[in-house]
Amino acid sequence: MAPSPQQQQPQQPSILLIGAGTFGLSTALHLSSLPSPSHITLLDASPTIPSPLSAGHDLTKIVRAEYEDAFYADLALAAMARWAADPLLAPHYRPVGYLLGNSAAAGAKSRRSLERSLRSIEARAPWQGRIVAVEGGDAVRRVAPGLDGPMDGWSGYFNPVAGYVRAKELLGAVWEVVKGLPGVEVKPGEKVVRLEYEGDRCVGAVTEAGARYVADVVVLTVGASVGRLLPSIGRQVAARSWSVAHVQLTEEEASRLKGIPVTYSRDLGYFFEPDPDTRLLKVCPSGAGFTNYVKETGISVPREDNDFLPAGQEEAVRKILREHLPGLADRPLVDCKICWCADTADSEYIIDFVPGTKGLVVVSGDSGHAFKMFPLVGGWVKDLLDAGEQSIARWRWKEGASAGGEVSWRVGTTRDLNEATELAT
Ligand SMILES: Cc1cc2nc3c(=O)[nH]c(=O)nc-3n(C[C@H](O)[C@H](O)[C@H](O)COP(=O)(O)OP(=O)(O)OC[C@H]3O[C@@H](n4cnc5c(N)ncnc54)[C@H](O)[C@@H]3O)c2cc1C
Repeated sequence: MAPSPQQQQPQQPSILLIGAGTFGLSTALHLSSLPSPSHITLLDASPTIPSPLSAGHDLTKIVRAEYEDAFYADLALAAMARWAADPLLAPHYRPVGYLLGNSAAAGAKSRRSLERSLRSIEARAPWQGRIVAVEGGDAVRRVAPGLDGPMDGWSGYFNPVAGYVRAKELLGAVWEVVKGLPGVEVKPGEKVVRLEYEGDRCVGAVTEAGARYVADVVVLTVGASVGRLLPSIGRQVAARSWSVAHVQLTEEEASRLKGIPVTYSRDLGYFFEPDPDTRLLKVCPSGAGFTNYVKETGISVPREDNDFLPAGQEEAVRKILREHLPGLADRPLVDCKICWCADTADSEYIIDFVPGTKGLVVVSGDSGHAFKMFPLVGGWVKDLLDAGEQSIARWRWKEGASAGGEVSWRVGTTRDLNEATELAT
């Protein structure tokens, strides 16, 4: 007797995906587009997607392949090819290039990091003969004509094979697709308060409202909040935050800066061309970030209220403006916030089954460099589920690792929000 269609297709495990941020939406997209997809339930704490808690809830994110580590440079290149070609992604990708350098005042760590960035791309085929050395204000203005600050002693390069994604817009567009996919059930506004276990098997999750969701496999994509639901991750991940501020531009100002490359003075911070819809200029100071360690658990987790700049950060934003766009340096800063990511000690992602449990996968440790990987992340989760174990050693759970220290490619020193005086804006 011929097998029925149900008998021919092996039964796929059902999946509970917790967190519809960058990693969660990419995972939902990949897993639901398989020939015989699992039934997926996708929960997020926020009633609106993208969630204001998501690190991707932001006007823009840089897409570049500069990495100290060739492994990630290769991945970034693969992701860039998808950003440019995928009909769902490409409308949100702006390949305006990347102007990366140091101001005259930069310290040795920032200069070393810049050299490593350049080395990581210059020998690769897409950049051969295309990188332009940029020294001093006049040279900066040749690649970014709208910048009228002094930039004396500014030193760096222009990389034309890079750009940015309109992040919030992209996540919103993907959400619209994901919620219409057969086999995917979306549940925004469901904040998970604990995972449920039967013995060592994770069988589901319970939400703040008391709803209980069960599945064969639970995949945690809650970003920097992972320590709240999975305390056993310990100090492998530290929630760290960075400041984001905006300046409202006039139509004339916005058109003057239209099309400029993403401009990053490594020791000061970075900004993007103005948002075409709102004419907001996004400005982010660089630095080693702010943690929020909780005494009782010894784990750093995001705060509930993030609409402020920590002490000293307003001045850091204005310093970037004085160097590049002095006419804007005294303007009011609007839509100020801190944005959280999940930092690991070695900036490696954690994409693995949780040891000592069954049916529980953690996808976190983005370390502030994973938005650009959106086109690929879900494929990595699929590979893990198919293989049943993580074959890529660098992405494994690392028992006992501690993300408390400084990170090689970041300038400055980490501060804890409980020690920094806050400035409400
Ligand atoms: C200031 C800043 C600038 C950055 N710039 C760049 C850049 O230029 N280029 C780049 O590639 N990357 C950048 N990143 C990093 C990038 O944004 C992150 O790597 C990426 O967004 C992480 O995705 P995630 O899915 O792990 O977390 P998130 O996108 O934060 O998603 C987590 C989701 O989980 C949900 N959630 C949390 N707790 C719960 C719960 N209990 N129950 C249900 N849902 C929950 C949240 O609502 C959220 O939607 C930046 C990060 C920051 C902070």
